[in-house]
Amino acid sequence: MRDTSHIYCVAMKIRLTLLTSLCIALAGAYVFGQGGAPQPSKLDVVKLKDDMFVIHNAVVPGNTTVLVTNEGVVLVDDKFAVDYDNIVAEVKKITPQPIKFVVNTHHHGDHSGGNAKMQAAGVQIVTSEAARKYMADGNLPGQPAVTFVDRGFIHLGGKAVELYQFGRAHTGGDTFVYFPAQRVLSTGDAYTLSPETPQLIDYAGGGSAKDWPDTIARALNLEFDTVVPGHGTVVTKNDLRAFHGEVTAVRTKVHDMIVQKKTKDEIWAMLQRDHKWNQFQQRSIDGLMLELQ
Ligand SMILES: [Zn+2]
Repeated sequence: MRDTSHIYCVAMKIRLTLLTSLCIALAGAYVFGQGGAPQPSKLDVVKLKDDMFVIHNAVVPGNTTVLVTNEGVVLVDDKFAVDYDNIVAEVKKITPQPIKFVVNTHHHGDHSGGNAKMQAAGVQIVTSEAARKYMADGNLPGQPAVTFVDRGFIHLGGKAVELYQFGRAHTGGDTFVYFPAQRVLSTGDAYTLSPETPQLIDYAGGGSAKDWPDTIARALNLEFDTVVPGHGTVVTKNDLRAFHGEVTAVRTKVHDMIVQKKTKDEIWAMLQRDHKWNQFQQRSIDGLMLELQ
């Protein structure tokens, strides 16, 4: 299942078959060359703090968080392999420091696709043990050598990065990356902006609409002001609170409708009407009904 996941390209109306890359369905506009080979996304950089930046895809709104220290750079997510050269170039514009660590928020190819090239350049890749298992199951290149369970830390140049696994959400291995001094939280696809980049539940990859609200609630216990979603523009803690309300409402309403013996079509109509779910999310409907009955 995982190695035949379909990637849908909203803007280009192209459908491909590639390794586990559910979340590119989010944004769509993945640009392909004449031979169908993926082309690098155009990147731009958003400055959050003097030592913190986001490398944002101009077209596909995916995010790579950058922490600069005087002993090297920590990145959160490394996009596709084809984006590697441009990510490195953007980091070089920010700082002469080398990239030392990449944290993958989860196993999807648009967040971990650069791993093999990063490793070849001497970068240490870190993710949750669960996310690494999904990478191994999918035989994905660039599997991390270092993993953590529940909570991990990276200490570099006197700065701390905290890694949290708060539970299942978009996948079964979602990692939240917390920068306490900067009061910034990078969520991966456990939080994406809707409706531009809606909530997607990767059931084959351990995702859970049932656990999702509790996972977000645990993240909200951290002290931060700024949120870097997996896809979409940088927002605030209040936006993440609103998203918590959204995923909670989906869980409650779908469960209640199943109890009331509503049909799948009726539930789907509610999700489209009340929560702006789209055709990509429709793939999750069977798993959703099974989980929330
Ligand atoms: Zn994803």
